[in-house]
Amino acid sequence: MPAPGELIMVEPKRPKPPKHWSDWTVEERKAQVVELGLPGFRADQFSRQWYQRLNNDTNSWTDVPADMREAVKDLLFPELMTSVRELKCDNGATVKQVWKLFDGVLVESVLMRYTDRVTMCISSQAGCGMNCPFCATGQGGLTRNLSTAEIVEQVLAGARSLAKGEIDGGIGRVNNLVFMGMGEPMANYNSVIGAIRRLTEPAPAGFGMSARGITVSTVGLVPRMRQLAEEGIPVTLAVSLHAPDDELRDTLVPINTRFKVQEVLDAAWYYADKTGRRISIEYAMIKDINDQAWRADLLGEKLAGNLVHVNLIPLNPTPGSKWTASRPEDEDEFVRRLKSHGVPVTVRDTRGRDIDGACGQLAAATKN
Ligand code: SF4
Repeated sequence: MPAPGELIMVEPKRPKPPKHWSDWTVEERKAQVVELGLPGFRADQFSRQWYQRLNNDTNSWTDVPADMREAVKDLLFPELMTSVRELKCDNGATVKQVWKLFDGVLVESVLMRYTDRVTMCISSQAGCGMNCPFCATGQGGLTRNLSTAEIVEQVLAGARSLAKGEIDGGIGRVNNLVFMGMGEPMANYNSVIGAIRRLTEPAPAGFGMSARGITVSTVGLVPRMRQLAEEGIPVTLAVSLHAPDDELRDTLVPINTRFKVQEVLDAAWYYADKTGRRISIEYAMIKDINDQAWRADLLGEKLAGNLVHVNLIPLNPTPGSKWTASRPEDEDEFVRRLKSHGVPVTVRDTRGRDIDGACGQLAAATKN
């Protein structure tokens, strides 16, 4: 029996992705290598090839005896995804990828290059079960959770392209990561935590990113937010609030019927207390739905005095949807009122809007 308040998330039954190097801990990798008949110290060498040299051509690994390279590839580093569509915009500074996974499922990742950094936005699930009515991904439901390795692989694919200078702007590296592609990360908790560990573990175990460069978003799965606070990984937690009152939030973010605004905010403040990290509140600005001045005041009152920052996101409408972005004057007034409560706020840069837009829309368009 689940504990009171615990989540029951039912994932549709589907074949599991092949096990891959990035699914395993350091000890498990060593055991896999030994099982293959190779000395255990090879595990560190393989990890260095994979995460530091970003060399995914196992045939070129001189640390592997030639007659073992095929087995190493098939059993330890099977191909997890292939690119089926790549779209560039913002003069090549934004690259969206649609990936086909081993079972034909599509997910997407986005790489955004800024003057001083590269941010990647990745998916944690194929589809999403949270059913937010303004979101393209939510309309299709949840297909399945991604494995740890499938999540890590989206980042490494971007890192490889940057290292080879394939992205406009020259050779670079991934500095920031946001779990804001398809899916609700906290509904695929174990795979997401595994991926964060692989991505932050220093060489040779992992990719060696700073946890401070990683943002995990959630619609407010309260037990998981509290669990994340105990993990000892100082990622930024972004809460997709979208409304300050339960009446509206029940309709915009249906999980709110289970976890109310105040419970979600209490879990967010708990996270901030435990980690010292500032909470990011995501708020999609939807014309005449959640952008009224009184809602800005209510939001300001609920957030004031906490370690928090608000990101207002001009809504990128789903094709055929009745929802659209707020008027500029309403957005300005919303910002002004939040600031008057002493709450820091920015309006998010909406990269990639000219190519199918926000979360899930590119993969959805590819399917059609
Ligand atoms: S907005 Fe996020 S949580 Fe809601 S349905 Fe879309 S992907 Fe899922």
